[in-house]
Amino acid sequence: MIILDGKKTSNEIKEEIKITVNSMKASGERPPHLAAILVGNDGASLTYVGSKVRSCEYVGFDSTLIRLESNISEEELLRHISDLNQDDNLDGYIVQLPLPNHINEEKILLAIDPKKDVDGFHPANFGKMALELNAFIPATPFGILQLLERYKIPTSGKHCVVVGRSHIVGRPISILMSQKGPAGNATVTVAHSRTENLDLLTRSADIVIMALGIPEYLTADKVKEGVVIIDVGITRVPDKKHPKGYVIKGDVAFEEVSKKAKFITPVPGGVGPMTIAMLLQNTLLARQWN
Ligand code: NDP
Repeated sequence: MIILDGKKTSNEIKEEIKITVNSMKASGERPPHLAAILVGNDGASLTYVGSKVRSCEYVGFDSTLIRLESNISEEELLRHISDLNQDDNLDGYIVQLPLPNHINEEKILLAIDPKKDVDGFHPANFGKMALELNAFIPATPFGILQLLERYKIPTSGKHCVVVGRSHIVGRPISILMSQKGPAGNATVTVAHSRTENLDLLTRSADIVIMALGIPEYLTADKVKEGVVIIDVGITRVPDKKHPKGYVIKGDVAFEEVSKKAKFITPVPGGVGPMTIAMLLQNTLLARQWN
């Protein structure tokens, strides 16, 4: 069994980005600049945005964190977005989700200039991605492709079962895995909460990508020997013994499934760190494309 080490791989990607940024700076060019809008004080969102900003600093990007009160109106938030769209010194930005209930997330995402949409959530980017044109690929699926590619895991002709069909993980990774090209050419089945006989599907899969958010859902009896497991799930499970009061669990029962798997991502330390590295990669691409 080989662990797909997302921490190590993401560090390698960050080092590659750092080298490119250093040579940009050495030739007098402005470094890439990423901004993040954070509305409110949600603990998990603060953690995610904090590590995105720290990663920017690490690779030599400029970064801007825009913190807004949770009672901000939709109009006011749209004004901030319009300002960022017009800022020529900014290559890309993200609006950290979830947003407060009184704000229409779809309206906000549609207002982002697709050229600066480094999260790859705008329909223009999603459409281009599906048509195999140059586009910002959402960071989590992009990170999964990188892990598969860098560990040289064969995907061509393999049966890949993706569990989950969300717009940010399940749906895009199912499209990408079936496309022509590296980490593609797989035969993909997309499963969701209405899927019947899911166990039969996962047992027949060469590659299983779990993105549903139910801790330790995939047990060893549901996979075959030699399977490749990508665990996207991140759930905080209460644990009084832990100083933080919770532990992070993936969608896969790692202990037992790892005994049957040929390759497997751990949680934490698998897909999670890759997501941040690929956001940086998209920001670098935004600097180079625009
Ligand atoms: P969503 O809640 O948006 O989607 C979950 C998907 O799982 C839905 O398609 C749902 O089906 C499906 N599902 C739910 N229950 C079942 C079931 N019993 N059997 C089969 N399918 C089921 O989640 P996200 O895609 O946003 O996130 C999934 C997980 O990945 C979460 O734990 C999240 O925290 C994590 N995540 C991790 C990231 C990382 O960087 N590592 C980034 C993003 C997410 P239906 O469509 O029918 O409702």
